[in-house]
Amino acid sequence: MRVLLVEDDIALANGMLLALRAQGFTVNHVALGQQALNTIRSQDCDAVVLDLGLPDIDGLDVLKITRQKNSRLPVLVLTARDGVDDRIRGLDIGADDYLVKPFAMPELFARLRVIERRLGTASSHLINLHGVTLDSTGHQAFFNDEALTLSRREYMVLKMLMESAGRIKTREQLEASLYAWGEEVASNALEVHISNLRKKLPKDFIKTIRGVGYSVSPP
Ligand code: CA
Repeated sequence: MRVLLVEDDIALANGMLLALRAQGFTVNHVALGQQALNTIRSQDCDAVVLDLGLPDIDGLDVLKITRQKNSRLPVLVLTARDGVDDRIRGLDIGADDYLVKPFAMPELFARLRVIERRLGTASSHLINLHGVTLDSTGHQAFFNDEALTLSRREYMVLKMLMESAGRIKTREQLEASLYAWGEEVASNALEVHISNLRKKLPKDFIKTIRGVGYSVSPP
């Protein structure tokens, strides 16, 4: 899932970036409301974590404008401890969820996983398919109950495929979720991840849909 983080506190934003990336989220960070609006308008992000106290445009206005243009983009707002009115207004304008600062990172992960599950087909943090188990809370995968050693991107590919079991994930969808905006990507990078994954998974677990993408069979 591609997350747009809008936060002007650079130290906090850097900490969140590292933590979220370690959890397998693809994160793009901007510090200003106008940049957030530009990014939302021009790029394809799956969810937004939006600080309400921004230096240029009020976060609530960013949310309002976003809702006018894209009614379904999930937005989680970050508010100050005393910002009860902001919280209520945020939810009224259409925020999906909120967190009060200071918050614990695991709580942010949990809220984002709820959004992620709502966007995908998975309804639980555990998915079992053909002997392979994906635990999106523990950020791990198992084959016949043995933990698999996966790189961050291998895990992300496997997670996307298993959460959409029975549907094809196109190359473009997978690449877009794996890499941050503007990141330099080798043309065969996805094939390399898939090939490495296949060495660790049962035969034919990941199916190639020639010229389109990849899929995993439903149970
Ligand atoms: Ca702020």
